[in-house]
Amino acid sequence: MDERDVDLLIAGAGPAGMTAALVASLEGLDVLLCEKSDQVGGTGATSAGTLWIPGNRQSRAAGFSDSAEAADKYLDALIGEGTNRALRDAYLQSGPDVIDDLAARSEVRFIPCGPHPDYRSNLPGAALAGRAIIPKPFDGRKLGADFARVRPPIAEFMLFGGMMIGKADIPPLLGRFRSLSNFIYAAKLFARYLVDRIRYPRGTRIMMGNALIGRLYYSLRKRGVPILFGGEIVDVIGDRRGVTGARLRVGGKDMVVKARKGVVLATGGYAHNKRFRDRFMPQPVPAHSMSFSGNCGDGVDIGERLGAAIAPERCTSGLWTPVSRVPRADGSEGLFPHLVLDRAKPGLIAVNGAGRRFLNEACSYHDFVLAMFESHKSVPTCPAWLICDADFLRRYGLGVVYPGHRHPWKFVENGYLLSALTLDALAGKIGVDATQLRETVARHNGFAKTGVDVDFGKGETELNRFNGDAQHTPNPCIGPVAVPPFYALAVWPADIAVSTGLSTDADARVLSAEGEAIPGLYACGNDMASVMGGSYPGPGTTLGPAIVFAWRAVMHAKARRAQEPDGPFVG
Ligand SMILES: Cc1cc2nc3c(=O)[nH]c(=O)nc-3n(C[C@H](O)[C@H](O)[C@H](O)COP(=O)(O)OP(=O)(O)OC[C@H]3O[C@@H](n4cnc5c(N)ncnc54)[C@H](O)[C@@H]3O)c2cc1C
Repeated sequence: MDERDVDLLIAGAGPAGMTAALVASLEGLDVLLCEKSDQVGGTGATSAGTLWIPGNRQSRAAGFSDSAEAADKYLDALIGEGTNRALRDAYLQSGPDVIDDLAARSEVRFIPCGPHPDYRSNLPGAALAGRAIIPKPFDGRKLGADFARVRPPIAEFMLFGGMMIGKADIPPLLGRFRSLSNFIYAAKLFARYLVDRIRYPRGTRIMMGNALIGRLYYSLRKRGVPILFGGEIVDVIGDRRGVTGARLRVGGKDMVVKARKGVVLATGGYAHNKRFRDRFMPQPVPAHSMSFSGNCGDGVDIGERLGAAIAPERCTSGLWTPVSRVPRADGSEGLFPHLVLDRAKPGLIAVNGAGRRFLNEACSYHDFVLAMFESHKSVPTCPAWLICDADFLRRYGLGVVYPGHRHPWKFVENGYLLSALTLDALAGKIGVDATQLRETVARHNGFAKTGVDVDFGKGETELNRFNGDAQHTPNPCIGPVAVPPFYALAVWPADIAVSTGLSTDADARVLSAEGEAIPGLYACGNDMASVMGGSYPGPGTTLGPAIVFAWRAVMHAKARRAQEPDGPFVG
């Protein structure tokens, strides 16, 4: 059997595990990162890459003021004062320093997101700008042939089968024939992509979560940190009195890794473990997940077998988004997350199986799904239906149908959208009562005239308006559904991350059911119970804590000799 001795073993090469490995190397530890698949990135590579770091200095330098104190007030209002106090304090205190430390000592750099309201922007302490940061775009060519090791984004987020575009690219691309500068911008992007495709499997101009992973991987390579691809952690060695290493499965063979300072579990959470889904999620258990398919709950299972506690107790166990199911040309099915582009725009409503609206459609994607769960208790709402008209589809697009698409009927033909010339006919197609749907639309169209949604308050919060259409009056989020043909799109609940995981202390040390830290065992990312108690304060709710607690775990592990003189790793 293969054996190895290291200071720190880290399992899982997503944002959490890669950060832990990088920091460990920067701190002079002998580190091994094992990754079950043959690529780095996990779900992180397919994410938007935003981090929620209150008081970060990148935003302050750009003129957006914010503070940990204001964020604390906001979290008190959102989550409640008592929950996870020590972890929340640690998170708010160290967040900005962690981001600066990574920027100073590695290629992992972030830039301010600028204006981006928190998801409950009407609560005390909520910020309208400055809390969110995003990874600086990255040039994948720096990785050479190893660029193929970076997991690609989801297919529905790329053009021409491999070209990433950012938010700033959308207006010039859509308006490429409207001005010379737009045309040149679009032509340059396309030319770069064509050249890329001669040497690389996809475009190398990467951004969002893919840039985060590219930057982490580049930094790890520069420091020569070993990554054991195809290396799956199956168990740890030790018991709740102390963990001294782990057993891996590598290419069908067993391997033992002795880890002097400890083992960090960062295997991405349990999203694809049916047993855990059935146990933690609401009934009926949502069938769809946007998490990486290799995230099978290995870390949570290993921790629980050792006697670790599971937390948080009261939550839906997921961080949710509504998704539409996309039929792909090869017969497979994609999932498109309806995060920000369509729901808040004027001229779209969401209805349940009774043909009634059941929420403010412009709320956050997490809150949208919570409202689906609530409505589903009395009326079938999984799926819910997004309803719009021809004007809306042309102007704003819907799901994978981008604005101004010349052939929207193709999406009707392949079954993505349902369409009809009258609301009655559309009601028949989606199986809701026609009279009720007509009444729902008529009532909503009245709100479009007055600008006031007396039922659900669409357009009332900063977040609503931020994602609406500022040019549209009197309410940037409400417009009539009036011009045939009418369209309906089914949306289902899906997790983008899970929030139930191993209970930890503020240094990411895994806690036993008795509340004692298990020496030498750490958890971060989605293997760690959500520091937000399963709620979703703003953009970057999981990646922020994943990176901050990975950093804290390593700093604790490094200092273990001094802190735990009687622990099993002294020497
Ligand atoms: C479309 C989308 C957009 C998102 N946008 C954001 C955003 O902007 N901000 C935000 O905060 N969050 C976002 N998220 C959520 C975020 O991506 C995840 O919460 C985050 O990636 C979790 O990081 P992680 O390191 O814990 O897990 P992952 O990124 O999933 O990585 C886990 C890794 O562990 C590996 N692994 C699994 N089992 C084993 C094992 N037994 N041994 C070794 N390796 C193993 C996996 O192969 C994988 O590589 C988004 C998610 C989606 C789907």
